Amino acid sequence: MKEIVSNHLKEVRRRMRAACDRAGREIPEITLIAVSKTKPLEALQAAYACDVRDFGENKVQEILQKAPRMPKDARFHMIGHLQRNKVRQVLPYVTMIHSVDSLRLAETIEQEACRLDKIVDILLEVNVAGEESKFGFAPDEVLKAVQQIGCFSHVHICGLMTIAPFVENSEQNRPVFQKLFQLSVDIKGKNIDNVNMSVLSMGMTGDYEVAIEEGATMIRVGTGIFGAR
Ligand SMILES: *Cc1c(COP(=O)(O)O)cnc(C)c1O
Repeated sequence: MKEIVSNHLKEVRRRMRAACDRAGREIPEITLIAVSKTKPLEALQAAYACDVRDFGENKVQEILQKAPRMPKDARFHMIGHLQRNKVRQVLPYVTMIHSVDSLRLAETIEQEACRLDKIVDILLEVNVAGEESKFGFAPDEVLKAVQQIGCFSHVHICGLMTIAPFVENSEQNRPVFQKLFQLSVDIKGKNIDNVNMSVLSMGMTGDYEVAIEEGATMIRVGTGIFGAR
């Protein structure tokens, strides 16, 4: 396990550097999130030993199981659809929620964060390609959502997230990433109080290099690090 994860990480980091070079970007601009959903604790520990500190999970139950068993400086990112009745349980363990896909969910996070007296970093999930099967705001709904959620005092919008379609050739997703980038630039230009647009969470195993070329600041890589699920 250790050696496989270590070798995979070397390859991912090499490709990240190459994509940065092509785009004239610097490697510290990009956070690699190791998507450890369905994987055992030993897999996360192997990645941690290779200096990974950011882990992505899509189920509350898995975060509750894994987070308390990892070193204190490991960070957990909620990247899957979050049910409102699970917000209270998961909040103490997550560093950022990438998958805020409705105003009602943001309201629940606001209430629960207020109870805990903390400010929760979130991203708004955007369904850029308009896929029926996917969660997220439609691109033309995002600005309004940002304005509404920006008024909440215990939620901090840090940027946008998208899950691009499954494609054969990663180039097909370039326009999706370009659109999310442009959306974040447009919103940034409105200078809305309490709203930051510094994070763009986009790119998975099949397309993270293209995402980096198009401005991703967080990439979410599962299979490319831990192998097939
Ligand atoms: C599973 C998952 C990933 C990682 O997918 P891979 O193709 O295995 O890299 C990234 N983002 C989200 C939201 C996921 O659910």
